[in-house]
Amino acid sequence: MHSSHNFDVIILGAGASGLMCAATAAQRGRRVLVLEKANKPGKKILMSGGGRCNFTNYLVEADNFISTNPHFCKAALKRYTQWDFIGLVERYAIEYEERKHSQLFCRHSARDILNMLLDECAQAGVEIRTHCEITEVQALDSQHLRYRVAGRQGQQALRLDCQSLVVASGALSIPTLGGSGIGYEIAAQFGLAVTPRRAGLVPFMFSDGMKAVCERLSGLALEVRASCNGQSFTENMLFTHRGISGPAILQISSYWQPGDVLSIDLLPGLDALPWLREAKQQQGRQLLKTLLAQKLGRALAGELQQLWWPEAAQQPLAEFTDRQLQTIASQLNQWQLKPSATEGYRTAEVTLGGVDTDAISSKTMEARDRPGLYFVGEVLDVSGHLGGFNFQWAWSSGYSAGLAV
Ligand SMILES: Cc1cc2nc3c(=O)[nH]c(=O)nc-3n(C[C@H](O)[C@H](O)[C@H](O)COP(=O)(O)OP(=O)(O)OC[C@H]3O[C@@H](n4cnc5c(N)ncnc54)[C@H](O)[C@@H]3O)c2cc1C
Repeated sequence: MHSSHNFDVIILGAGASGLMCAATAAQRGRRVLVLEKANKPGKKILMSGGGRCNFTNYLVEADNFISTNPHFCKAALKRYTQWDFIGLVERYAIEYEERKHSQLFCRHSARDILNMLLDECAQAGVEIRTHCEITEVQALDSQHLRYRVAGRQGQQALRLDCQSLVVASGALSIPTLGGSGIGYEIAAQFGLAVTPRRAGLVPFMFSDGMKAVCERLSGLALEVRASCNGQSFTENMLFTHRGISGPAILQISSYWQPGDVLSIDLLPGLDALPWLREAKQQQGRQLLKTLLAQKLGRALAGELQQLWWPEAAQQPLAEFTDRQLQTIASQLNQWQLKPSATEGYRTAEVTLGGVDTDAISSKTMEARDRPGLYFVGEVLDVSGHLGGFNFQWAWSSGYSAGLAV
């Protein structure tokens, strides 16, 4: 007979990875309890992808993930692929659509994905308790065959035991959506290393003259190639009143370290120097600003003129020296920008770094030296690119643990 304080599996966090793990384990006949501190499960799922949840991507490769150990994610991604998740979505007749870069979004609402996961959990007999904040975890014996979790359910103290404990508490991003550091504290308590963490998929801010430029251009988007530390992404960049954002910038932010310079190609796919030289020959009477406005719009061309050739603002193109054109061409193809900081966890989509995967089994997500203790989802040192990869990691890692707990 079961006691209401004893479970086969307790999962900390009813987010993407926790719900997937819970359904998978319960379908195997395990008695599963999910504890969630918020008033409802899956808040991040509901907010994701602008309310439409970019739930996976047709093209999932290990290269889409950032981790100290780039091989770690492979086994789980193979065990539960994007096709497995798409199959589940189709079984529930959820309408979805492909957007650029093979990204898959719900056609109607992210709620469809959350309802599907909750349905899977309910059908398999998972118990989900909200308003339960876990503050402490304890191994009840030296072999780690039982764990005890403690915390509060509303005003009441909570104390529950289990055989397998799954930490699915997510990471630091967006505290109002449940971001918390409890997973790192539990890892440290059991002697697992945690790699340094920082905000990823996050906009940049400036404190120099660029701040005012961005403010004036706020709302303008254009396609660029953003590069930093050997990585490049060609996508839209958006000027904001604080700095720069948009998919190209969010992607490259995950490769940026404080102090690094970003290189922005404002004319991706176009070598600016031959283009400028030809324009000088053929349309020498026009202003450089007018020429650039054709490709970049008047507002940005005007700002670039202020930054790069203010003294030659009234000079026709024909009078630009080759040297001047060379300098401007290289700025167009490699605009060097030095952000002062990112916007931080307040707006970051993910947390880079986390529980060191060296101590975790890539097949089961179990801590190697701590039988019964599992880590899944974003709490681990695995972060995806923008494009549905973070959810795919949550599904794959949650599923892998769900088969083992
Ligand atoms: C605004 C936004 C949009 C995003 N859009 C996308 C997208 O479209 N596609 C994509 O792939 N990724 C997206 N992401 C990233 C994605 O949401 C996360 O990577 C994913 O949710 C991580 O899943 P998880 O289960 O590890 O953590 P979470 O989904 O964050 O779940 C963790 C849960 O644990 C709970 N918890 C934390 N501490 C405790 C505690 N002490 N006790 C009890 N419960 C606790 C939290 O309340 C939370 O419900 C987005 C992120 C944000 C912030």
